[in-house]
Amino acid sequence: MVTAEKGVLFIVASPSGGGKTTLIRKTMERLEEAGVAAHFSVSHTTRSPRPGEVDGVDYHFVDREEFEAMVAGGGFLEWAEYAGNLYGTSRLEVENRLRAGEDIFLDIEVQGANQVKTKIPEVVKIFVYPPSYEVLRERLTKRRQDSEDAIRRRLQWAVREFGVGGEFDYAIINDRLDEAVDALFGICVAEHHRTHRLNTRLDAIREAFRSALERDITT
Ligand code: 5GP
Repeated sequence: MVTAEKGVLFIVASPSGGGKTTLIRKTMERLEEAGVAAHFSVSHTTRSPRPGEVDGVDYHFVDREEFEAMVAGGGFLEWAEYAGNLYGTSRLEVENRLRAGEDIFLDIEVQGANQVKTKIPEVVKIFVYPPSYEVLRERLTKRRQDSEDAIRRRLQWAVREFGVGGEFDYAIINDRLDEAVDALFGICVAEHHRTHRLNTRLDAIREAFRSALERDITT
């Protein structure tokens, strides 16, 4: 597959429980098969680990003091408070990988997405919608990771997020996982083909074309 000269930064936002982690991981597998290096950014959070979550894999779990020290030191590309906990994306991790030509996926909520857009305007923002209230409620209940109260807060938050989701570049309705993966993979491929992401390569093709034409005409 043709790939952009620099890595592409994708934000995939959705209400908690929208199924975006599985969607991103499956899309990354497809990208890897197509020869695209992609990385799923690991955020910092002050939230406690849920059963089965591993420090350094699902999140870097830190306390408020450590988090605030990172904020003060400019260590975050963006950060936000969500349902009483702080979440942030490491600036260095993102910048270094993009420069190295890797795609990066950020699984972040909408306030953070807007902060990234102001710092990195070429970011691609994708909002993943659950197909209905009932489906989202069922997904949150079934995963048995949150109390009834936490689930209610997440559902209330979802309504606020829908408002901002309308400003995103792309919308995916996560009803059937395989179709959602097809859609996200398609968006990634299209973004790699944006003219501005292929400039150096296109210049080389145009230049070689011009030289060849000149040679042809003068002989
Ligand atoms: P959860 O607690 O369910 O893992 O995540 C709650 C919300 O925080 C989700 O919408 C998730 O996308 C978001 N989130 C996770 N990491 C970050 C981050 O680094 N920055 C921001 N702004 N949101 C994040």
